[in-house]
Amino acid sequence: MTLITCKDAAFAYDGNIVIKNLSFEVETGDYLCVVGENGSGKSTLIKGLLGLLPPQTGSVVWGDVKRNEIGYLPQYKAARKDFPASVSEVVLSGRQGGRGILPFYSRQDRAIAAENLERLGIAGLRKKCYRELSGGQQQRVLLARALCASQKLLLLDEPASGLDPLISVELYRLIAKINRETSVAIVMVSHDLKSAVENAKRILHVKHEQLFLGSPDEYQRSKIGKEFLNAGSE
Ligand code: ADP
Repeated sequence: MTLITCKDAAFAYDGNIVIKNLSFEVETGDYLCVVGENGSGKSTLIKGLLGLLPPQTGSVVWGDVKRNEIGYLPQYKAARKDFPASVSEVVLSGRQGGRGILPFYSRQDRAIAAENLERLGIAGLRKKCYRELSGGQQQRVLLARALCASQKLLLLDEPASGLDPLISVELYRLIAKINRETSVAIVMVSHDLKSAVENAKRILHVKHEQLFLGSPDEYQRSKIGKEFLNAGSE
């Protein structure tokens, strides 16, 4: 099933277009990695897919997913010192979307939160204070939170940036496992090209516009893919 369709979409700030000619679909179970240099419009595209930034031209249409059913994981940032929530509270808060102002969680919400804590191997941390965890553990908690928000689509914006290389590899593995074991679709901005070509089903390369869309194999054989992969490994 089609979750999102971008058709000739362009996104802008104050009328200045930063990325254009975006035409692609995100399907159930997809794993799309968005790659490109810094400043090429990747985060802007994610904002567009989240519905936070309307397209300047063209269209973004949400199909079998509502906008409040999209899980989002931002880049790693050290937790605020005055953020006293426990791990289970943070994960459970993923269930808030779409419930309006009611501050109650149902039995089903709690069951989904428990399931995602298990899935991400952090059930043992559930009573701990979120801000006292390591960066890698915090990103796992936020990934569990995003999964609580959505069983259909996760948008991840460089989820491993700022983490140690080994911890990043683990996080990418976990994301690939989630994609394999559940039918949740992943759209992930990544500067880790090795992991992108290993795990993704499709690669979208952008530089202020859509330059390439295809399988990792096609990307590795393409001129732009070869250039970017070589530049990345220097
Ligand atoms: P990437 O994620 O590929 O590094 P971004 O989408 O963050 O790129 O940025 C693309 C361009 O849009 C950059 O030139 C950046 O300076 C500009 N930009 C990003 N966010 C804003 C904003 N909130 N207001 C104005 N310009 C922005």
